[in-house]
Amino acid sequence: MLHPIERLPEDWAETLARWGEPRYRAAQVFKWIHARGVLDPDAMTDLPKRLRARLAEEGLQPTMEVALHQRAEDGTQKLLLQMGDGRAVESVLIPQGSSGAEDPVGGDEPEDGRPVTQCISTQVGCAMGCVFCASGMAGLKRQMSAAEIVSQLFVGRGLVDEGDRLRNVVFMGMGEPLHNYDAVSRALRLMFHPDGLGFGTRRVTVSTSGLIPEIARLGEDFGGKVQLAISLHVPDDERRSALMPINRRYPLSDLMKALRRYPLPKRRRITIEYTLVAGYNDELADADRLADLLKGMSAKVNLIPMNPVPDNPLGPPPWSVVEAFHDRLWDRGVSTFVRRRKGDDIAAACGQLVLAGEKKKIRVKVPVVS
Ligand code: SAH
Ligand code: SF4
Repeated sequence: MLHPIERLPEDWAETLARWGEPRYRAAQVFKWIHARGVLDPDAMTDLPKRLRARLAEEGLQPTMEVALHQRAEDGTQKLLLQMGDGRAVESVLIPQGSSGAEDPVGGDEPEDGRPVTQCISTQVGCAMGCVFCASGMAGLKRQMSAAEIVSQLFVGRGLVDEGDRLRNVVFMGMGEPLHNYDAVSRALRLMFHPDGLGFGTRRVTVSTSGLIPEIARLGEDFGGKVQLAISLHVPDDERRSALMPINRRYPLSDLMKALRRYPLPKRRRITIEYTLVAGYNDELADADRLADLLKGMSAKVNLIPMNPVPDNPLGPPPWSVVEAFHDRLWDRGVSTFVRRRKGDDIAAACGQLVLAGEKKKIRVKVPVVS
């Protein structure tokens, strides 16, 4: 049975029909939970007593609580969220500040407050086993439900600073979102619903290590509107397979074909994530190979100097190497940006959460138009 938090208005309509309640109440219940973040039926003042009592029986419990809350000097907040079975995942809130995270859409009116990006998790651990990633090293502990995935946003919405607004969501926390497709796609539908959290599709980015069938499914199910980020990292099969075992199953040539088939709306670009690992994928010849792979594609590259992971010998290259790699990609006509970690004064390194980090444009050139 669907958890109450993961029911869409149409699911509530079915539930309410069973309870002998009128259909229009479905939108009301959904709004209380998703738009207003209210889980206590007694506070749902426009519902009749009888229905409130029935909802109370249904058990509208929060799915998670904040077990740890850290705040960096730059305003970044890192959360450890503990779920019903005691398992925990991480989520990060990144305000777009003076040095802040990118706002993928832009154009905010000043009175809107600072836009905040939340990085959310989809699994406890991850089965993909990428060798540079802390989540991968631990293996998959369990999937998260759609209710748990969106609950991270309820928590985040409540913690943004006064005047700020939760605007963007990136699926770049723990886990491989497309390895938990059903829950993730339901969470997306919940997030996009105008009676609920009401996120715009352009403001939500799903990051994947490259699960080809699910990339196609996501494209079909959401008409290409969900922003896609691909963890490419290495521009040839042999070395990519060594770093990212998923490449053995879905090699680069097939992945690139799948990306070209993604029904991207006009003027949108796929994000290519490229974690720079010292001495592994950071040579200018790699930048050239990457540029070749992306030829004619509507894409932009985010370079991420690898965030060191405890007990892992891999690490980031020196800054000069990052810069040279960045410049070479621009010279080859590829829009490229370097992302750096935000919240540096927060302890505890987490492999992939670095990605939610600050994004810094080093130099702007006219992007390539496909
Ligand atoms: N599983 C998905 C999304 C979560 S990881 C994916 O792999 O795309 C989010 C991003 O962080 C990915 O691009 C991932 O490769 C990157 N990442 C993981 N560990 C990292 C590390 N130690 N340093 C830098 N980036 C890392
Ligand atoms: Fe999983 Fe992404 Fe980490 Fe790879 S990088 S192990 S896919 S979370």
